[in-house]
Amino acid sequence: MDVVILYDVVILGSGPAGLTAAIYTSRAGLKTLVVAGMLWGGQLMLTQEVENFPGFEKGILGPKLMEEMRKQAERFGAEIILETATSADLKSKPFKVTAGNKTYEGKSVIIATGASAKWLGLESETRLRGKGVSVCATCDAPFFRNKKVVVVGGGDTAMEEALVLSRFASEVKVIHRRDKLRACKCLREKAFANPKITFVWNRIVQDILGKDRVEGVRLKRVDSGEETILSCDAVFLAIGHKPNTEIFNNQIELDQTGYVVARDDTKTNIEGVFVAGDVADYRYRQAIAAAGSGCKAALDAEKYLELI
Ligand SMILES: Cc1cc2nc3c(=O)[nH]c(=O)nc-3n(C[C@H](O)[C@H](O)[C@H](O)COP(=O)(O)OP(=O)(O)OC[C@H]3O[C@@H](n4cnc5c(N)ncnc54)[C@H](O)[C@@H]3O)c2cc1C
Repeated sequence: MDVVILYDVVILGSGPAGLTAAIYTSRAGLKTLVVAGMLWGGQLMLTQEVENFPGFEKGILGPKLMEEMRKQAERFGAEIILETATSADLKSKPFKVTAGNKTYEGKSVIIATGASAKWLGLESETRLRGKGVSVCATCDAPFFRNKKVVVVGGGDTAMEEALVLSRFASEVKVIHRRDKLRACKCLREKAFANPKITFVWNRIVQDILGKDRVEGVRLKRVDSGEETILSCDAVFLAIGHKPNTEIFNNQIELDQTGYVVARDDTKTNIEGVFVAGDVADYRYRQAIAAAGSGCKAALDAEKYLELI
């Protein structure tokens, strides 16, 4: 029978939030396990150049940044397993997490499972990811100075992305499958008033065109099925995010969209369970913000462990 090891901290997720938390807890001498999940390194593994993470004058490749964070956490003794947590029992102590047919126990838990951007599901979108296909205007808009870009979506995020892009691109076309926007009035008005932003209504993206870089999109009218080609240099998808919280249903407090409810920064409704990064943040969604909250969650867990 497997001996169950009791960790001081079990961290779920190995993106910037989880690995930063691991650097802090392991460096503080706490026995730390990181359950890395299906995408070790998190969302930055899906991108190329990261230009806005402090400390890298010339930018750094996303996977390289995550590899450095992982090595830094391992240097202080954090144990990282390449498994996905399939269930969590946070109702009794020590907390239990099951991953890869094994159960791990933790005196405390940090949830850093992130939120996944929704994609259209096209082969071309995967192939051209980081080569003109993006899900983050704050991250990638500066790469498209004076270029033509399209935004796909019609909600608040799509309008925010279009407004950010309008500061860099020469023109921004918003492609929406309906004939009106879901975005709130104030964002709609800002977008309508912006001379660089125009709208292509009742169309869906059938394909993203280009071999090594985005060159355009093939659109289809939802009513008549008529197809057209629109040339552009980048496609920004803004069709929503999904927090990775399925395993916490009925375990901790989630809001109606599935994000973990954080109180007092990193605390959840269960004492000893903390949260960090995009899984509780639908507002900033930036690596440095996730790393910052990973640091806070680690310090809060450390303080909690001193008192029990
Ligand atoms: C294509 C792309 C480009 C981006 N570019 C930039 C940029 O240039 N600059 C910037 O600041 N931000 C950028 N971002 C946003 C940034 O990547 C995120 O804000 C950041 O990664 C969030 O960190 P996180 O640790 O909270 O979550 P994530 O990075 O999403 O990591 C979540 C982790 O949780 C794990 N996980 C999920 N479910 C489970 C489970 N059940 N068990 C165990 N583990 C689990 C996953 O495997 C993953 O390791 C980009 C995002 C994308 C998608």
